[in-house]
Amino acid sequence: MNFNRPHRRFNPLNGQWVLVSPHRAQRPWQGQVEKTAEANLPAYDPTCYLCQGNRRNQGADNPKYTGPYVFDNDFPALLPPEPEEQPTGHPLFRAEPETGVCRVVCFSPRHDLTLPEMALEDVGAVIRTWSAQTAELGARPEIGYVQVFENKGAVMGCSNPHPHSQIWATGQVPNEPALEAVQQAAYHQRTGGCLLCDVTAEERARGERVVAQNEHFTAFVPFWAVWPFEVLVTANAHVTRLPQLSAEQVRGLADVFRQVTIRYDNLFEVSFPYSMGFHQEPVDGQAYPGWHFHAHFYPPLLRSATVRKFMVGFEMLGMPQRDLTAETAAQRLREVSGVHYKQR
Ligand SMILES: [Zn+2]
Ligand SMILES: [Zn+2]
Ligand SMILES: [Zn+2]
Repeated sequence: MNFNRPHRRFNPLNGQWVLVSPHRAQRPWQGQVEKTAEANLPAYDPTCYLCQGNRRNQGADNPKYTGPYVFDNDFPALLPPEPEEQPTGHPLFRAEPETGVCRVVCFSPRHDLTLPEMALEDVGAVIRTWSAQTAELGARPEIGYVQVFENKGAVMGCSNPHPHSQIWATGQVPNEPALEAVQQAAYHQRTGGCLLCDVTAEERARGERVVAQNEHFTAFVPFWAVWPFEVLVTANAHVTRLPQLSAEQVRGLADVFRQVTIRYDNLFEVSFPYSMGFHQEPVDGQAYPGWHFHAHFYPPLLRSATVRKFMVGFEMLGMPQRDLTAETAAQRLREVSGVHYKQR
């Protein structure tokens, strides 16, 4: 097979796969701008390749968009399928072609407005866009899984400060959702119930790890959290994918997202970096008993705007470790103001 095209390689030591995208040339990098200029970004930046009306590197001109704006990533990690591609190799060096679509979703034309600074209705519009993209890409026969995610902040490797998210739709189910599928199915098999329905009910009853909640969604620092201020957002009702959410549930999700991200920003009075993403039921036609729709927030900051947690040494080679308990992290997020520091 062609190793110059996107493929995935199997690690027989840990049973996991790695996505390899060698065709991905030099991507544009505007991330360093954020470190120095973050506090006073303009509403429009003529040099930003995501702002409305601007030309993208190797891409088209952006239209004068007014709400969320979706386009195909000009430097995709995944490419459409090529019919002649065959899996290859020695049993110890297994590789298979990987196919898919990579898209970018700008939250709004505003270069300076992150999710926690946007109005509730505008966050709702972003969620509806993610939902429509999930439905559209998920309906393609070659797509097995749709990953919606946001990398926020240069520290997370975000290549442009203009608030945006990405969607990578893959042929195969990636490692993390594949592992969660196994655990959720095992719980379902063992108890007849849904793991995250039960966890959500228990967290709502206890309250000590809950950061934000409303009628439709709950955000909490999970009992087993790895990152210092990690948050899991779960639907209170049993749903499996974004397109299943009612208008009221979308509003509920937008509200909980705002509450969590505002508290993040207020914690150290800085635009709080994180990787966030939804785990939705795969669309590969297999059965996923007990799959429950949820989102993970993985922020790296530990003690201040500049002190971050590193996953190195024992954590890389042994297992994750944390000092701050999940209960204390949740309490600190509850104690900060629910009003964004820039808007007070
Ligand atoms: Zn911009
Ligand atoms: Zn459930
Ligand atoms: Zn998950």
